[in-house]
Amino acid sequence: MTTLGVLYEKALAGEWFSLAETQHLWEAAPLDELMAVAHRVRCQQVGVGEVTWQIDRNINITNACASACLFCGFHVGAGNVPLFTTTKEAYRLKIAELLALGGDQVLLQGGLDPRMALADYEALFRWLKSEFPTVKLHALGPPEVVYIAERGGLSIRQTLERLVAAGLDSLPGAGAEILNDRVRQLISPRKASAAAWLEVMREAQRMGLLTSATMMYGHVETLSERLQHLLTLRDFQAEAVAEGRRGFLAFIAWPFQGNGTRLAAQYHYQPVTGTEHLRLIAVARIVLCNIPHIQASWLTVGHEVAAQSLWGGADDMGSIMIEENVVASTGRHFRMDKAGMTALICDAGFTPRQRNQAYELL
Ligand code: SF4
Repeated sequence: MTTLGVLYEKALAGEWFSLAETQHLWEAAPLDELMAVAHRVRCQQVGVGEVTWQIDRNINITNACASACLFCGFHVGAGNVPLFTTTKEAYRLKIAELLALGGDQVLLQGGLDPRMALADYEALFRWLKSEFPTVKLHALGPPEVVYIAERGGLSIRQTLERLVAAGLDSLPGAGAEILNDRVRQLISPRKASAAAWLEVMREAQRMGLLTSATMMYGHVETLSERLQHLLTLRDFQAEAVAEGRRGFLAFIAWPFQGNGTRLAAQYHYQPVTGTEHLRLIAVARIVLCNIPHIQASWLTVGHEVAAQSLWGGADDMGSIMIEENVVASTGRHFRMDKAGMTALICDAGFTPRQRNQAYELL
C-alpha cells in the first residue's frame, strides 16, 4: 500500500489517484493533514485568500414529480405535502425581490412533471425572458432533460437545443446523487441512469452550456461507490478537456438529509457528521484535480462546517439562496443574507468575492 506521504506528494503534484489510493487516503489520513494538503492543492489551483459567492434564487416550478425518489421529502406525495405550481404572479414577485437584492439568476427546478411537455417549458422560459430579459435561467437538470426528451420522442440534443432557444442559460448538476446504477435503483429507480446523466452533461457542454457536477451522499452507497463517483467525474472532465469542452466549473456535494423521508425509514440512517463532510471536501479537492471549484454546501452542513471547509479544499460558498424548499422540506433551515455571507467568509480568514454563474468576479 502506498504510504500517506507518497499520496500527499501525488496530490500536490496534481497526479491522478486510483480508487484504492483514494480509499486509503479517506480511511488513513488524519483529518488535519488531509485538510492541509487539500488547502495547498486549492491554493495551487485557484489561488490563495479569496472565496467566491453568488446571489441567486431557487424557484420550484412545481412539486409535481413522477420520480418519487425515496430520499425526497419535497415532491407531492411525500408525507402530506400538498401540490403547488408557481404562478406567473409569484414568479414576478420572487424575481423582483431577487433583482432588488442584486441577484441576476434563478435556479428553476421542478422534478419530473407528467403534466409538462417540452412546449410548456419553452413557453415558461420565453415568458420569463420577456418579463426579465437580464435574468439568467439556470434550470432543470439531467433527469428532467431525459424525461422531457423521452416523452417528446426527441434526442437529448434536440431537447437541449429547444430549451436553449427558449432561454435556458446553464444546466445545474442536479440529480447526480451517486453515479452508480445499483445505488440509483435503490434510491431513485425512475430517474435517469448514471450513463444518461453523463450523456446529458456531455451534450450540454458540447453546446457550450455552463455545467456543474454534484453528489448527494451518505445514504445507501458504499465507501467505494462514493469515491468512485469522484473518479467518474474526474474521468468525464478529462474527456471534456480532451474534446475541447469547458467541462464542469464546480463540484458541489451535500450529505443526504433524511428527516421524514422514506429512505431514512427503510434504511439504517446515520446522518453524515461535520467531520465526515470535511473529509469528503478535502478528498474531492485532491481527487478532482481537473475541476476548478469546490463548493462548501453551507445550506446542508451549516455555517460552521462550511467555514471550516474553506481551510480544507473548498473555495466557493455558493449562493445566499433567497429561497430554498427542497432541503428545507427535511427540516434543515439554514439561512444567509448578503451581510451574513460576507461576514462568514471574512471571519474564516478569506476575502469574499461575489461572482456570477460563470465564476467571473463581479
Ligand atoms: S428529488 Fe427531484 S426528481 Fe426526486 S422526487 Fe424529489 S423532486 Fe422528484
